[in-house]
Amino acid sequence: MTSSPIWHPFTQHALEPSMRRIRSAEGAWLEASDGQRIFDGVSSWWVITHGHRHPKIVAAIEKQAATLDQVIFAGFTHEPAEEVAAGLVEIAPKGLSHVFFSDSGSTSVEVALKMALGYWKNIGIKRTRILALEHAYHGDTIGTMSAGARGVFNAAYEPLLFEVGRIPYPKPHHAQPTFDALEIACRKGDVAAFICEPLILGAGGMLIYDAETLKEMHRICRAHDVLFIADEVMTCFGRTGTIFACEQAGIAPDIMCVAKGLTGGSLPLAVTLCTAPIYDAHLSKDRTRTFFHSSSYTANPIACAAAAANLEIWRTEPVIERIVALSQNQALCLNDLQPDPRFSNLRQLGTIAAFELSTVAPGYLADVALVLRARLLERGVLLRPLGSTVYIMPPYCTTKHELRSVYRAISDAVDEVLT
Ligand SMILES: *Cc1c(COP(=O)(O)O)cnc(C)c1O
Repeated sequence: MTSSPIWHPFTQHALEPSMRRIRSAEGAWLEASDGQRIFDGVSSWWVITHGHRHPKIVAAIEKQAATLDQVIFAGFTHEPAEEVAAGLVEIAPKGLSHVFFSDSGSTSVEVALKMALGYWKNIGIKRTRILALEHAYHGDTIGTMSAGARGVFNAAYEPLLFEVGRIPYPKPHHAQPTFDALEIACRKGDVAAFICEPLILGAGGMLIYDAETLKEMHRICRAHDVLFIADEVMTCFGRTGTIFACEQAGIAPDIMCVAKGLTGGSLPLAVTLCTAPIYDAHLSKDRTRTFFHSSSYTANPIACAAAAANLEIWRTEPVIERIVALSQNQALCLNDLQPDPRFSNLRQLGTIAAFELSTVAPGYLADVALVLRARLLERGVLLRPLGSTVYIMPPYCTTKHELRSVYRAISDAVDEVLT
């Protein structure tokens, strides 16, 4: 047992007595304090986009830290925040004209839910119900857990969670039950907003659905004046092949949450974008209509400088080309696994690849994930299977050669674990 006072996230310390100590990172690689190089196959929990320590982001952070570190964001503004807000409005789906800053994905979702409820309250219509998808994940705070799927992860907190209308996950080629349930729920007239992860449910198991389905869910919400919240916390900044996943469906949500890749993964920063009607509903000489939300570090200048540098990288470097190349390499690697009976339900969305371990019996899941993780780490690959679901979500700088060696490591590790 370690004597560290640190309590790690999503970690059962009784099963994982020690943590690897990482001393540096570059590109797609981490370096442990014993010198081992570890391939970052989960982009350090889905946040790193271009690669670790992109020189332009590092330079922007250094420059900003030497000028203005932090300032209260109520009553004050600063150039990095203005640059980020203007840059985001420019690339976001049409109509998202206002930007509220916060500091994590969970907070950006909390802000989205509060904006939605505040909108209806301020225009004097009683709509307070939230709809969310089965298998959804929106964060680990009380509000976002409420919107997320219920299970072992939040059973203890159930008494604190508010009830939401649960819409079945749109299974590929069988989305009709989703549309029907959404239609029926929306018709009741008490729904404030529907929240979903566009195109892929991440923590729920990398469950992919198509753009037509997203478009139809959006159409149904529109038809019933239900606000559509797109949680792009994971999907933003190229993960799914486009800057935002919503682009692929040609939809403009009423509210959009953006976090993980916003600073290229270098610093915590999040935003919630919304349309003019939502902002305007809060605009009044009447102080009770104020949007009552803030975090101490709202729009921290250093984090904003990192995000501004990220936007600049997207404007000036061939980021989409890198994403396309990585996506093609993922497809090639997955294709090689296709005939292998150990793997099933191979699937891909943009830079994300996932599959199931076919021979793993339920109940044994958690153990396998843990052992597999350990065997992969011995081979210098960081992956974090979700139960029997293995996924590979590397930084965009990953080469074909690197990716192939990751898949080789998976094959070898699975051999060792499952035989
Ligand atoms: C990670 C994630 C969140 C929560 O973001 P944090 O920064 O971890 O609070 C919310 N929604 C989705 C879709 C996510 O993947």
